[in-house]
Amino acid sequence: MDKPKIGIFAIQGDFEKHYEVFDGLGAEVFYVKLPEEFEGIDGLVLPGGESPTMSRLINTYGLREAFEGLKKRDIPVFGTCAGAILLAKNVIDAPENFSLGMMDITIARNAYGRQRESFESEIEINWNGKQKKITGVFIRAPKIVELSDGVEVIGKLENGDPVLVRQGNLLASTFHPELTDDFTVPEIFMEIVEAFKEKG
Ligand code: GLN
Repeated sequence: MDKPKIGIFAIQGDFEKHYEVFDGLGAEVFYVKLPEEFEGIDGLVLPGGESPTMSRLINTYGLREAFEGLKKRDIPVFGTCAGAILLAKNVIDAPENFSLGMMDITIARNAYGRQRESFESEIEINWNGKQKKITGVFIRAPKIVELSDGVEVIGKLENGDPVLVRQGNLLASTFHPELTDDFTVPEIFMEIVEAFKEKG
């Protein structure tokens, strides 16, 4: 099988780290900024950063249609932190047309309070019947406050907060898996992409 082609949305945020991670996992990696660059990819990563800036640039550069195209083709998309906010159908207190409205979750931005701008916490992962614990890095992280029946919780904090969720080919994490040396989460995304590619 060809290497999966992973696009890294590179309009703002910490996209370079994601490039390194997926390159290290053996994918063919591309930066994606222009509408035509959305065409040949098997999966797209939306990095962390500032969701208002990303949202504004998506609208200014007319990229909504390119995302609609991904949705239609059911291309796997992995949103981390600000990227998870962009994936959500519902963002609390956000203006209209803020997010891309792809995943059936409601998310609250900057939801862990000022004193906890950035923290590390243990995450319990449950994927394909296997359990393990990883460390999650949270930076002004959002919180998933509601999820619909079709959304599966793959990772949660000790207090039960869902921090890694999946709906079909969409994966969202409220933490930054690219900032640790543990590849569990990007590997899960690679599995989703490979299964999608195999189905053709
Ligand atoms: N607080 C940022 C936002 O709302 C997300 C932070 C991050 O991506 N690390 O977009």
